[in-house]
Amino acid sequence: MKAIIAKPPEKNSVRLAEIPKPIIKKGEVLLKTLCLGIDGTDREINEGIYGTPPRGFDYIVLGHEALARVQEIGEQVEGFSEGDLVVPTVRRPCEENCLNCRNGETDMCLTGNYFEHGIYRLHGFASEYTVSDANFLVKVPEELGDVAVLLEPLSIVEKAISQSFKIQERMAWQPKKAFVIGAGSLGLLATVILRLRGLEVYAADIKDKGSLNAEIVRSVGAKYVNVRESPINTLGEKFDILLEATGRVEAALAALNLFGPDSVMCVLGIYREEKACQEFGRVLTNLVLGNRLIFGSVNSNKSHFEMGIKDMLEIKSKHEKILDRLITKKLNLADFEQAFKVGGGDIKSIISFG
Ligand code: BGC
Ligand code: ZN
Repeated sequence: MKAIIAKPPEKNSVRLAEIPKPIIKKGEVLLKTLCLGIDGTDREINEGIYGTPPRGFDYIVLGHEALARVQEIGEQVEGFSEGDLVVPTVRRPCEENCLNCRNGETDMCLTGNYFEHGIYRLHGFASEYTVSDANFLVKVPEELGDVAVLLEPLSIVEKAISQSFKIQERMAWQPKKAFVIGAGSLGLLATVILRLRGLEVYAADIKDKGSLNAEIVRSVGAKYVNVRESPINTLGEKFDILLEATGRVEAALAALNLFGPDSVMCVLGIYREEKACQEFGRVLTNLVLGNRLIFGSVNSNKSHFEMGIKDMLEIKSKHEKILDRLITKKLNLADFEQAFKVGGGDIKSIISFG
């Protein structure tokens, strides 16, 4: 069968390959892949700066944002039928099966010896057929079939937002204003969810006001800020909840000027820029004097995928086609390479497996 593979740490190694169709073991389900989303992590694996093949392999099958149908059910699997529409979660329990991994919170693994499909020590879903442990599959209603390929990135946002609210239980808290830094796929999904939660939302990016990204922000009743025209530190507004989705140190630091009292900021990027931070003292003082909090969030678990399904249904009824508009490129498998080029007005590229 055909698969998209990469050979990190080799640079630009992504290619189409012919590999054996997988055979399922006890507790597993064979899936027929329908489509697959590509994100920054996939591009970084292609750049050779991230990603680890499974033991005994010199390549890794890519893909961690998948939508699939159940094709065959392994022994001791309950609750699934052939033809079910499903999305697999990404992370699997660590070798030690730590407290959090045992509790279904593999995203909070304590040891770091976890596995991630398509990223870290486990093949991904970018092949015509793929396999997942049935315990990590989320059933998707048919009516979400056209947008459920966005469920994995949405689960990242659901975790970030639900944890922000949980953390803020440290006091009486009635958040009113949210600021989302970055209006790419994660930032836009965050903007939509924060609007569903009834907050006044601002989303900022370098894209111009006429861009599709800006239009999507406005169409859910949020405000778009072009940071080229209005730099973040000139905004003069304070926010209760901030979400950093650019992965840029500069943007994250600028956002410190927007911290309201008792606020919380969740950072989602991988900040690779090297920048001596002379300002760190100021950052810490700012946190102390305002009871402010910055926390990081990576990955997500089944509960966040389930929150995502609920919200997708609500989004569909409130803003009809908004999720479809995030999918700006639909490619056939033969043209998959286009998804690895970051380009123009692209928000989310998906690859169809036919
Ligand atoms: C995925 C996460 C994963 C992270 C780090 C992201 O692209 O969405 O599930 O944990 O990469 O590997
Ligand atoms: Zn663990």
